[in-house]
Amino acid sequence: MSSPADKQPATRVVQAGRRKEWTGGIVNPPVWRASTILYDSVADLRAAGSRDDPHRLFYGRRGTPTQWSLAEALTELEPGAAGTYLYSSGVTAITAALLSVLSPGDELLLVDSAYDPTRNFANGFLQRMGITTRFYDPLIGGGIADLIGERTRAIFLESPGSLTFEVQDVPAIVAVARARGIVTLLDNTWATPLLFPAIARGVDMTILAATKYVVGHSDVMLGSVTTTPERWAPLVETSRALGLMVSPDDAWLGARGLRTMALRLRQHGESALAIARWLGEQPEVATVLHPALPACPGHDLFVRDFEGPAGLFAFALQGGGEAARAALIDGLDHFGIGYSWGGYESLALPIDPQRFRSVTRPQFAGPLVRLQIGLEDTADLIDDLAHGLARFRAARDG
Ligand SMILES: *Cc1c(COP(=O)(O)O)cnc(C)c1O
Repeated sequence: MSSPADKQPATRVVQAGRRKEWTGGIVNPPVWRASTILYDSVADLRAAGSRDDPHRLFYGRRGTPTQWSLAEALTELEPGAAGTYLYSSGVTAITAALLSVLSPGDELLLVDSAYDPTRNFANGFLQRMGITTRFYDPLIGGGIADLIGERTRAIFLESPGSLTFEVQDVPAIVAVARARGIVTLLDNTWATPLLFPAIARGVDMTILAATKYVVGHSDVMLGSVTTTPERWAPLVETSRALGLMVSPDDAWLGARGLRTMALRLRQHGESALAIARWLGEQPEVATVLHPALPACPGHDLFVRDFEGPAGLFAFALQGGGEAARAALIDGLDHFGIGYSWGGYESLALPIDPQRFRSVTRPQFAGPLVRLQIGLEDTADLIDDLAHGLARFRAARDG
C-alpha cells in the first residue's frame, strides 16, 4: 500500500480516513451515534478503561468511527502531523489549542490582523487567567525575535489576516520560534492544508474553522486542530479535560464536504481572482486586498509559499461613506449579506477592520467590502457588482 505522502493532495482528500473497519465497505463513513458502549464482561470494561487507544469504542464523548475518520483524513492532509482533534466550532478549536500551550504567567504574541474572537479570547479570558498578550504587526517577519521575552511561550499567526489579508512570513517566524523553544499556532482557515500545508512548513499547531471550506455548504459548525507529535498529547489532554467534542452527525457532514474540497477550492480561487482583477480596474475601487494581487501586503510571500488562491478577499472603495457602501451591497442579487464564508454561495459583507487593531492601523481611501466568491457563474457575479458600483457612485456623488 502506498503511504499518504506518496499521493497528491486531491487524491488524499478523496481517500483519506475511509478505513474499511469504520465504513464496512460503504463509500462514505456512516454516522455512528453513541453515548453508552456495552462491554462483554467486567474484565472487558476494565480493560477498555485502562487502555488509551483512540480508535477503540469507549464512551460517546471519545468519539466513534465517524469522528475518527474525519480526524484521520485531516491529519493525512498535513504531512508530518501526528493527529487531529475535532471541535464544535472554529473558535472552540482556537481556544482549546491556546489553552493546551499557555499557563498563568506566560505571554502570547498575537498577530494584529487576527480574527476578532481570537483577539477577544486573548484580551478577556487569557488575561483573566494571568496570561498576557502582545500584538504584533502581521508584516513583522523575522523581526518577531525582538518581541520575544522571558515569558513568551507561544506565537499565534493567521495568514492571510482576517479582513485585511496581509500575508505573513510564516517560515521566518517559525524559524525564530523553533530556535527559542516557542510554540507556533496558525489559523489556516483561508488556505486549508491544500493551499498551505502548515505542518510541513514548520508550524506546530494548525487550526481550521472547518465550518468554512471543509464543510463547504454553510450548514455545519466545525473546527479542527492538527499538530506535530510534540504538541499532540497536551492538546488531547486539555481538550478531554474540557469535555470538548463534535457530534457524529456534524463530523459526517464535514467528511462529506471534504471529499469535494479540492475541486471547490480550485473554482472558488479561480473565480475570486477573476473578480478581484476586474474590481481592480474599476474607478470606484481604490484597492483590492487579494493575496494573489500585488497591492496586497505580503503578496511576494504569497507567491513564494502558497499553492494557489482561495475565494475570500476584500476591496476598499474610492471615497464614500456608510450609506454609499450600503447602496452597493443592499441591491446585489447574487450576493447574500451574512457572516461566515466558504460555502457554495457568494456573500458580501461591510467590514471595518480598523476597529480590531492594536499596534497597526491600515488606512484606506473609503469603506471596505469583503466578498466570498461562491460557485455561481463569474460573469453573473461581475454584472451584479457592476450595477452595485454604479449605485455606490450615485450615492457617493449625489
Ligand atoms: C470563521 C472563522 C473562525 C471561527 O470559526 P467558527 O466555526 O465560526 O467558530 C476562525 N478563524 C477564521 C479565520 C474564520 O474566518
